[in-house]
Amino acid sequence: MADKRWLAVEAKKYHILEWYYGYKRFRPGQEEVIDSILNGRDALAVMPTGAGKSVCYQVPGLLFDGITLVISPLISLMKDQVNALTSAGIRAAYLNRSLTNAQYNKALDNMAHGIYKIVYVAPERLVSERFIEVCRSLPISLIAIDEAHCVSQWGQDFRPGYLNIARFIDRLPVRPVISAFTATATEDVKADIVRLLRLREPVVLTTGFDRPNLFFTVMRPKDKRSALLKLVKERRDKTGIIYCATRKKVEAVCDFLCEKGYAATRYHAGLSDDERLRNQEDFVYDRKRIMVATNAFGMGIDKSDVRFVIHFNMPKNIESYYQEAGRAGRDGESADCILLFGLQDVATAQYFIETAEPNPEMTEEQNAVFRQKEEERLHHMVSYCKTQGCLRAFMLRYFGDQAEENCGKCSNCLSKYRTVDVTVDAQKILSCIVRTKERFGSQVICDVLRGKESQKVVSFGLQSQTTFGIMEDVRQAQIKDLIETLEQQGYIQYLGAGRPVLQVTESGWLVLRGKVQVQAREALEVRIGAEFVGVEPDGELYRELQAERAAIAKKRGVPAYVIFSDAALRDMCRKLPTTDSAFLSVNGVGETKLKLYGERFMRLIRLYVPKKGGKMPFRISEEQLGGFAFSDEPIYCSEIVRRVNALVEEPERRKLQAKDITNWLVSVRLLEAVKMNDRVLKLPTEEGMALGMLRQYRENENGDYYLVLYERQAQAYIIENMQQIVDFAASERMKTEE
Ligand code: ADP
Ligand code: ZN
Repeated sequence: MADKRWLAVEAKKYHILEWYYGYKRFRPGQEEVIDSILNGRDALAVMPTGAGKSVCYQVPGLLFDGITLVISPLISLMKDQVNALTSAGIRAAYLNRSLTNAQYNKALDNMAHGIYKIVYVAPERLVSERFIEVCRSLPISLIAIDEAHCVSQWGQDFRPGYLNIARFIDRLPVRPVISAFTATATEDVKADIVRLLRLREPVVLTTGFDRPNLFFTVMRPKDKRSALLKLVKERRDKTGIIYCATRKKVEAVCDFLCEKGYAATRYHAGLSDDERLRNQEDFVYDRKRIMVATNAFGMGIDKSDVRFVIHFNMPKNIESYYQEAGRAGRDGESADCILLFGLQDVATAQYFIETAEPNPEMTEEQNAVFRQKEEERLHHMVSYCKTQGCLRAFMLRYFGDQAEENCGKCSNCLSKYRTVDVTVDAQKILSCIVRTKERFGSQVICDVLRGKESQKVVSFGLQSQTTFGIMEDVRQAQIKDLIETLEQQGYIQYLGAGRPVLQVTESGWLVLRGKVQVQAREALEVRIGAEFVGVEPDGELYRELQAERAAIAKKRGVPAYVIFSDAALRDMCRKLPTTDSAFLSVNGVGETKLKLYGERFMRLIRLYVPKKGGKMPFRISEEQLGGFAFSDEPIYCSEIVRRVNALVEEPERRKLQAKDITNWLVSVRLLEAVKMNDRVLKLPTEEGMALGMLRQYRENENGDYYLVLYERQAQAYIIENMQQIVDFAASERMKTEE
């Protein structure tokens, strides 16, 4: 169809992408799918969450003369998508059980009158005679089937309603183009989709699974709660989801976070429909920043500004993990996916597989095969948690993608380790396990090695063991770590559910016989999570734009990201557009959004621009400084700053800040930056101490650290050098503002 008409259509798709969506470029894969649909060919697109599947059927849908039907199992997604389309100026509606009878009739009536260009419909509707009648009377050009894997009994999300789709299509007078979309599909599932939806020689397209803006981390914390608390603390004000394996865990974690003062809400299948909906909306509309949920949450949640997804428990397979973690960062800005792994998680997942109800729509044999597949999938998930290699590469390869050895953007690639030879200690542990006849778990083994006469040790008479007390000078935590390392590296394994017993594996025997050396990794520096620094180009304006967006969203009753994504706001902060054409160049701004909101946002930007850099630097005269109230007791830098600022009255100017002083002290080597427990501290050098700068020891739940106190002599030194400090701060600021 390489004729003129085709060329015109070709040009039009870019136009539509810009006009309605405000995007300049198609993402990988989108264009291929759109082209094949425009060519009248069926398509099956396997694209990861967040890749932008909706654009793939909406753009051709808008180019075709007739109507596009989108079949989707997800009520909340339909609502969001229709909201988004409507706010982009496209007439759309959804038909599902969330509508009252009257609303449904009205929508169907409108549809029959050809008012809508795109209609979302739940699969269950496809058997309704009235609905079929309306469809038979309309020109339907395209049917898009979202979450197409739901048609397969092999997948985890089988929806019997999907089996009606083929029959429904048969009843239409003209067969439209059929396109199917899914985020996760193995070869079996893909074959099922093609067969059961009766796709005709479809173009099958699998785009890469890589999500470059996601930062993957696996942690194996001793105490998950305090690890979680630390993670959410570092991400205050950020939106995130915390997945737990069970309803009970959801409750406990949610209560825990609320107690600690976080705006968290919860979601699981045990709550009433009302509460689920309310909590979901609280999250989507940013009234609650943190959602604690089971895997029941998230399908069809289109919230694009989720900045972190933390798994409090390991999911049962990598498909689920990648899908759930993939709910972070759909706007393309960096986001964190953190998995907190514990051995108990493996037992829980195993339990779920063993006790899962067999699927009544499958034969016994099929169910058995399914269960075995689940076991295999779990095994891969555990390997992911234990791998020392690149996490991204592990997952990409699992999905059959190519991957570099080192992505440079996951916790394994970025953390620094040193390897130490631990063969001798490993042999002691292994031999203790063997000599106690592989009947005990890690606690008893530990007690025996340390020569501790615990109740169990005594009752089994283990004091007479030759390994009793051979590690008596080693801390318990260290032995347990080593046991964990041995387990991770496959030298020992746990047997039995509930109270696992340690057993030496074949490779463990090689260690015992001195044939293999054991290396342990000792972390020197652990990197967790993407760095958010620099992501918000200018905090103040960004917050103003956010507030404006929130106000509009509230008034219109839609979630904030439907108005503009975080990415769009950030782009505004970078480009500072003050004219229509400049505003259109912002990523995510199309004609409709320019018309609807452009002026309101540009007004804020105009107000802000002259202010930028316009605030004069801090200034203080010798005379004013003469009034400084020295303290005979040592005081903190912030107190010096407070006393200095109290001497000046120039509200239009910047104030002196503590970091102005400490940065200068670092530049003259009286302080130095020291890394401690994940924090960068600025501590006095020897010269600094000689001048009366003291370290004060502190600790909190994140570990210990130091504060710096300034004796009178140090205070005097700072005041004497105030002009230099002020100049230094101003020039530093110039540098960063350039
Ligand atoms: P999926 O259904 O594949 O999970 P969506 O269709 O919801 O993903 O799209 C995810 C996000 O990416 C949305 O915010 C969407 O507006 C955005 N997006 C889609 N296509 C593009 C594009 N070509 N350029 C920039 N952003 C896009
Ligand atoms: Zn990596």
